[in-house]
Amino acid sequence: MRYFDLHCDTITECAAGGKQLAENDLGVSLRKAACFDEWRQFFAIWIPDSMRGPEALAYFDSVYAYFLAQLANNARSIVFCREKADFLSTRRNSRDYALLSVEGGAVLAGKMQTLSYLRERGVRLLTLTWNGDNEIGSGYLKPESGLTDFGKALIPEMERQGVIVDVSHLSDRGFYEVEALAKRPFIATHSNARAVCPHGRNLTDEQFCLLRDRGGLVGINFYKAFLREGPGACMQDILRHIDHFLALGGENVVCMGSDFDGAEVPADLGDIEGVPRLRRLMRQHGYSEALIERLLFRNAAEFFRRNL
Ligand SMILES: [Zn+2]
Repeated sequence: MRYFDLHCDTITECAAGGKQLAENDLGVSLRKAACFDEWRQFFAIWIPDSMRGPEALAYFDSVYAYFLAQLANNARSIVFCREKADFLSTRRNSRDYALLSVEGGAVLAGKMQTLSYLRERGVRLLTLTWNGDNEIGSGYLKPESGLTDFGKALIPEMERQGVIVDVSHLSDRGFYEVEALAKRPFIATHSNARAVCPHGRNLTDEQFCLLRDRGGLVGINFYKAFLREGPGACMQDILRHIDHFLALGGENVVCMGSDFDGAEVPADLGDIEGVPRLRRLMRQHGYSEALIERLLFRNAAEFFRRNL
């Protein structure tokens, strides 16, 4: 099977704990991902809200160096996709590949030129905020607080440089400001349906439909707290969110943004080796093979072929 995942925190966790990407005790490793015929994974470098200015960029640099070293150690099994040409060339073989994102715009320290610095290093996606505030704007904890002037100027510059805008974690007001400013499709890498689980990190139906109409993507997050209120979240809850988005016309929009190694996922899923079980559950649930292929791979693959 083929699997494309828009968000995991594995490389940040590896760097923090001195762990190996090839084999570790985390949710994602190259050994575990060998259960896929083809695997495309966005690795996020997470910048904590507490980091500011040069400290945030220095932190990026250190995790980035760790990421490059891990990929170099495993060059036979995984390649770093920085440019569209890398992305297209992978269609000729079945090697796995890694894409790079930064989660938390504090990395820019309010400086536009840092965006080109990141872009030159292969960052193709920026999650504008984490849960709190940074120089770009406010996260979901302040729903009424939106983008700063810097954040508003950043959106067209990201589009010009080919860094995809990610609105997961962003405040509601920030979402609508991005929607008004963006000329290209933007995405929510790891966000579920607020109508199914009323958490501020999840998307409203209106937000989902705007992402749909703009040609964007929404990655389903496997974090238990975003799947179901209270205890007992399981893989079946992932299907409830997908069903809801499909009913809103999301068959070309929904994909996966697991949040492995950044969140606690249902016990019956476990880790990335549980994704084939999720696939079987989708089949039992009545999804067609073509739809499952869209959800687990094709929607994301087609988006990045169009938009990288
Ligand atoms: Zn996140």
